[in-house]
Amino acid sequence: MRTIEHWIAGKTTTGSSDRTAEVFNPATGDQQAQVCLGSAADVDAAVAAAKDAFGGWSQTSLSRRTKVLFAFRELVNAHAGEIAELITDEHGKVLSDALGEVQRGLEVVEFACGIPSLLKGDFSDQVSTDVDTFSFREPLGVVAGITPFNFPAMVPMWMFPVAIACGNTFVLKPSERDPSASMRIAELWQQAGLPDGVFNVVHGDKEAVDAILDSPDVAAVSFVGSTPIARYIHERGTATGKRVQALGGAKNHAIILPDADVDFAADHLAAAAFGSAGERCMAISAAVAVGDAADALVAAVNDRARAVKVGSGRDRDSEMGPVVTRAAQQRILGLIDTGETQGAAVTVDGRGYVVEGHEDGFFVGPTVIDNVTTDMDVYTQEIFGPVLSVVRVDDVDAAITLVNSNPYGNGTAIFTSSGEAARRFQRGVHVGMIGINVPVPVPMAFYSFGGWKDSLFGDKHVHGPEGVSFYTRAKVVTARWPRASHTSDASYHFPTSK
Ligand code: NAD
Repeated sequence: MRTIEHWIAGKTTTGSSDRTAEVFNPATGDQQAQVCLGSAADVDAAVAAAKDAFGGWSQTSLSRRTKVLFAFRELVNAHAGEIAELITDEHGKVLSDALGEVQRGLEVVEFACGIPSLLKGDFSDQVSTDVDTFSFREPLGVVAGITPFNFPAMVPMWMFPVAIACGNTFVLKPSERDPSASMRIAELWQQAGLPDGVFNVVHGDKEAVDAILDSPDVAAVSFVGSTPIARYIHERGTATGKRVQALGGAKNHAIILPDADVDFAADHLAAAAFGSAGERCMAISAAVAVGDAADALVAAVNDRARAVKVGSGRDRDSEMGPVVTRAAQQRILGLIDTGETQGAAVTVDGRGYVVEGHEDGFFVGPTVIDNVTTDMDVYTQEIFGPVLSVVRVDDVDAAITLVNSNPYGNGTAIFTSSGEAARRFQRGVHVGMIGINVPVPVPMAFYSFGGWKDSLFGDKHVHGPEGVSFYTRAKVVTARWPRASHTSDASYHFPTSK
């Protein structure tokens, strides 16, 4: 059995613990590897390596750091297909989707290549007589990333390119379900010329996470995962004085108005609900059909759901792969059952879905549930599977109220041909990322990504300008260089400008 080890100070190591976790191929249901689960001592070793490397890396010139980032960009680009295959084999998503995730991560690397411009400070000449003021930003030190299974390359790449470009050193604790992409990425960093210890990977579960949260040498933690864990990370991390950004779960609504193009909306809704088997934090899981839109929309979405080609992610014809684990599959199937028993109509049923040749794979077919009400489990829970719930409301204001009553606030979209309705929606919803006729409004790398309410704990969104701000802190210098002949103007009252 292949063993996936940690990456500490530029080398692989099994660490000090003999605990391991199984890594499956979701398309076959077979275990294909085991991953080492790091102990507190392993985390301490990675943090110590990162702390050692910080002095050198934080003092490395901007032009040298940028050269490493450009080299890393070229290497990830050259090896994107290989990283995508690692993702598909452990996560299950189809290869084209895995390649897309590498590409979106690469865009953050490209953003980080512009670090000399991003770190420019301000300068004010002559703020008082012979006095200038200027500002600059410094890295924090050792920072950590704790990431979810659903984007094993992209979500870590939301964090470490920016953190490292800013001069920090990094400890990544990736998801134990699909850990291989992060190891390949570590090798590519080394090949790009990043000094050993600047980027480290410790695999693990709660034990490793808690050691990161409690380490006095970790200055900041970026987390992406489910809401209960995000809340916990934020509470425990800030309690030990860390800067924490903790992105949580989601329940993303798409509102479809009667004036929307039904075919356009149905095409995009199906792709947003069933792409990556619904295991995206920006997947649409609730369609809010307004007034007369509902019947035609449900019919059109049903057609699309039945036509999705489900199969192994390695099969080039597949449009949707399996879900990540047997437990996830069983949880999703159980939730579809509750939808039915609680009175909703399962109009396309993905239960019992079998893919020929992959009978033991963790498959759930695309599922549409109509007439869902807000008290049902399929509405209140983040299903994180290929299930689209349709809620019917009378008008756009009721739809906006529905979106705002939900505890999550990650992404939301509206399908309409009315600019007035779209503007009312964009101004009225309490959500971080908004799409207008765009179902999955993931911001580009040069904007920042983040939700509101239970979808994010902390003040800063990830990557983009807020990422640079999160991974640095500001200094403001007020400077005077008096001439030899200068007469002192020191006084005992609070100084004012002259
Ligand atoms: P998860 O919360 O189970 O795990 C995320 C990370 O936390 C993993 O590294 C895991 O090892 C660790 N972890 C799990 N349980 C822990 C515990 N009890 N104590 C300490 N650490 C623990 O999430 P997941 O199932 O890997 O990912 C899916 C979730 O992530 C969904 O809820 C999805 O919405 C969310 N997500 C959110 C975003 C976003 O941008 N808001 C992006 C991607 C995924």
